[in-house]
Amino acid sequence: MCPICKNEKNVIKRGFYRRPSDQKKVQRYHCKICKISFSEQTFALDYRQQKRWFNQSCFVTLCSGVSQRRAAYIFRVVPRTIARRVKKFGEICEQNLCKYRDQRAKVNEVEFDELESFIHTKLKPVTIPIAVEKKTRKVLALSIGNIGAKGHLKKISLQKYGRRPSERMLALKSMAKDLQTCTAPKARLRSDKCPLYPKLVRDYFSEATHYTCKGSRGAVVGLGELKKTIFDPIFTLNHTYAMFRDNLKTLSRRTWATAKRKDGLLLLLNIYAWFHNLWLDRKRIKIKLEVFTV
Ligand SMILES: [Zn+2]
Repeated sequence: MCPICKNEKNVIKRGFYRRPSDQKKVQRYHCKICKISFSEQTFALDYRQQKRWFNQSCFVTLCSGVSQRRAAYIFRVVPRTIARRVKKFGEICEQNLCKYRDQRAKVNEVEFDELESFIHTKLKPVTIPIAVEKKTRKVLALSIGNIGAKGHLKKISLQKYGRRPSERMLALKSMAKDLQTCTAPKARLRSDKCPLYPKLVRDYFSEATHYTCKGSRGAVVGLGELKKTIFDPIFTLNHTYAMFRDNLKTLSRRTWATAKRKDGLLLLLNIYAWFHNLWLDRKRIKIKLEVFTV
């Protein structure tokens, strides 16, 4: 398929080249309309990479509670290499999630809520709305936005970093918009009793039924969101949150490895979300990051 006109008809084969890094023979193609040449590598995960041998293990490692710097140490590469992989993987995983939403059967039961974390310091908190399918625990949509600090940190945050405009509604809307594509019209949505949610549901899912239940803040110690003794109506969601926190180093509580930028954290979130969905497919031995095609 041509990368510009996205057409297959006018593409012809045009020789090979030997890749210097591992001597692999790569097929070249040519599009007769756009007059451009490309190869099978153009769409590959390891396009223009030198160290392609550690891509898969890097993907799994980053989703196993290992920081980027430690991953660099494990694979004996410089941290910049890992940072580049995170960018590449993050983009691929985001596209994969998007395609997955488009091609999967419509979901009937969804749970959504917001996970709170921070960028660089607790004075700069962010909210991470995540929607999961109740039955399979698969992540359907996620987003991220800045929010203001709460409690005693509010004053210090204002002094140090000025007013931070709240992007909470923006993030929620972006999540809802993505979620819309894969939800059945008469779906059942579950969340806690946050006052912002009913309007969100009315705007984006007009025919859906919205159930709210009493939510509680996750504990800082122990398993956070999971540490409860009473019956939890949005267990699926809190279980997923606990998995996010456990497997993404930057989200774990009381961590040293803090996220440095919002876009960087979003990349990691997408990587983990995709890994999580693959993990739930029960083909764990074969977990492999690929460009997802339908
Ligand atoms: Zn073309």
